[in-house]
Amino acid sequence: MEIDGLVLSLRDQSIEPGSQQEAEVRWTVPDGWDTEVLTLVPGSEIPLQLVVTTTDDGVAVDFSGTATLVGECVRCLDPITVEQQFAASEVFVYEDSRSPRRQQSDKTESEGDEMDKALLIERDTIDLEPALRDAILSEAPLRPVCDKDCLGICVHCGALLREVEPGHKHEFLDPRFAALEGFFSSDSESGSGR
Ligand SMILES: [Zn+2]
Ligand SMILES: [Zn+2]
Repeated sequence: MEIDGLVLSLRDQSIEPGSQQEAEVRWTVPDGWDTEVLTLVPGSEIPLQLVVTTTDDGVAVDFSGTATLVGECVRCLDPITVEQQFAASEVFVYEDSRSPRRQQSDKTESEGDEMDKALLIERDTIDLEPALRDAILSEAPLRPVCDKDCLGICVHCGALLREVEPGHKHEFLDPRFAALEGFFSSDSESGSGR
């Protein structure tokens, strides 16, 4: 099985339906594989297990692996690493296998559009990138945390709540009332019989 990046050559795949090839490839992550909050480190290597099975009009590719994503805890902003296992399978059809079928059937316009979206085998190669992006990035956590019990940070001073004294809080005084506050406190002190 020949693979260049995520483009897999089917030249040595038997056309006999049901025949299978398995391979483990090490894929080097290029730039641009990230979500809003997590990133696959460019240049890192991800081992991919591939099983390619010949079907009647193309191939089915099963792939799986574990990806390491890095980012920040959404609560405390500490750096975090998320190990994400993924497994998916994708069907690819030969381009010329579509047309005759389409002419025979009286598909509606919308079904025709669906067919156009089927992943194609072009010049005996298939591109696993869209399927892999889906499997890794679409499944990555949207709000990753360093720990499910992470307390996050104080919204007022930014201190890590796991590191501050118990009962950490801030008195909020409107400056316009600050003078008044002083007046009341001295008043209450004098009132306590000093
Ligand atoms: Zn955290
Ligand atoms: Zn605070």
